[in-house]
Amino acid sequence: MGYPRQPSIFLSEEHDAFRTTVASFVQREIRPHADEWEAAGECSRELYRKAGAAGLLGLRYSEELGGSGLDFMATAVLAEELAKSDSIGTAVSLMAQSEFALAILADEASDEIKARWMAPAIAGELIGAIGVSEPGAGSDVAAITTRAVRDGGDYVISGQKTFISNGTRADFITLAVRTGEPGPKGISLVVFPTDTPGFEVGRRLDKLGARASDTGELYFDECRVPVANLVGEEGQGLRYILSHFGGERLVIASFAVGIMERLIELGLDYAAERQTFGSPILGFQTWRHRFAEMATSCEATRLLAYQAARLLSDRDPAGDLAVSMAKLRAAEAVQSVAAEVLQLHGGFGQMEESPIPRYYRDVAGFSIGAGTSEIMRELISRSLISTINTNPTNKETAR
Ligand SMILES: Cc1cc2nc3c(=O)[nH]c(=O)nc-3n(C[C@H](O)[C@H](O)[C@H](O)COP(=O)(O)OP(=O)(O)OC[C@H]3O[C@@H](n4cnc5c(N)ncnc54)[C@H](O)[C@@H]3O)c2cc1C
Repeated sequence: MGYPRQPSIFLSEEHDAFRTTVASFVQREIRPHADEWEAAGECSRELYRKAGAAGLLGLRYSEELGGSGLDFMATAVLAEELAKSDSIGTAVSLMAQSEFALAILADEASDEIKARWMAPAIAGELIGAIGVSEPGAGSDVAAITTRAVRDGGDYVISGQKTFISNGTRADFITLAVRTGEPGPKGISLVVFPTDTPGFEVGRRLDKLGARASDTGELYFDECRVPVANLVGEEGQGLRYILSHFGGERLVIASFAVGIMERLIELGLDYAAERQTFGSPILGFQTWRHRFAEMATSCEATRLLAYQAARLLSDRDPAGDLAVSMAKLRAAEAVQSVAAEVLQLHGGFGQMEESPIPRYYRDVAGFSIGAGTSEIMRELISRSLISTINTNPTNKETAR
């Protein structure tokens, strides 16, 4: 039984054709290896090359760099389909590179950086990571302390990063460093080659879900990086990071939509087949209605995500609010669907031979990564409050 996805007014025929291409890539290149990569704690390096050759690592980037020049709707479709691979860790690994590490470079980096780092990453020849979080700075990005001090034509970088996806084997890191005073204005971004002397990968972190994605601790001890590796302008790093969170949040929201589809599909198959008290589980109204709720939740989340994707594609400032709402709702919806489908599978849902417990673990992090649900609520509420403050009618009322 497939998931009964409805046609969407947001998607063109090209998006639908692209979905078919990605779905067949997932079926052919990821699902057969999902168990092996989950156990290994990383997907194969070869997968990046295959994804690059299939055009999946540079969707929104310029054709001169090997990208496809598409929009955020394509990003959403790609994330939905990759998430159905039974290995969300693999999907995270690919998109931590294509969306998280490269998006800022695409918009802000010099042509030299783009040619040296982006083009081979889009081709899948290099692996990239985004390095922002530190032991003392997660949600509060402005608190980072990894320092970059200018010395002649170099920055000398010292500090530590943690929780970095692809961190243990990345060839380069789009790295947030402090080049100025404490606070938001003193942050810059540099492209950091991981063969730089003084760089060390610490622990490969053992985590609850997304286990096919390696997550690392990174140490920088007086690492020299040419000033030419600066991304955009010095002191503008926080602005670049914040203005590119939209893409990351859209990816997580779209992963959630894809996972909900996959779980509902797996659940329907199981409920149609599994007999109890002489009836398939699908014969019980309570489960049919729970499927109705799950599908409605999936479609509502998809709509929020597509609305956000459209606004982000149009570079409409309303995209930030839309994507925060999409990500908040997506995390709640997918965690609820994963719990329902786990319950539906009874004892079998506890068994590692089924993909269900893996999805249940994987989605726990959806309310954390790319901005926690608390931060999403904060951003949404700030937006609401600013509307009240700037709306003359409301000001009038307040007086
Ligand atoms: C698997 C995984 C992969 C990751 N990959 C990357 C990566 O590739 N690159 C990277 O840079 N980072 C990465 N991260 C880090 C991730 O972005 C952070 O974990 C996330 O931003 C939260 O930061 P934190 O863990 O320090 O939690 P904290 O910021 O310490 O938050 C702890 C709790 O306090 C709440 N909280 C914090 N501030 C507020 C507030 N103002 N109001 C209300 N509640 C608040 C949070 O919502 C949360 O519940 C990854 C994390 C994980 C788990």
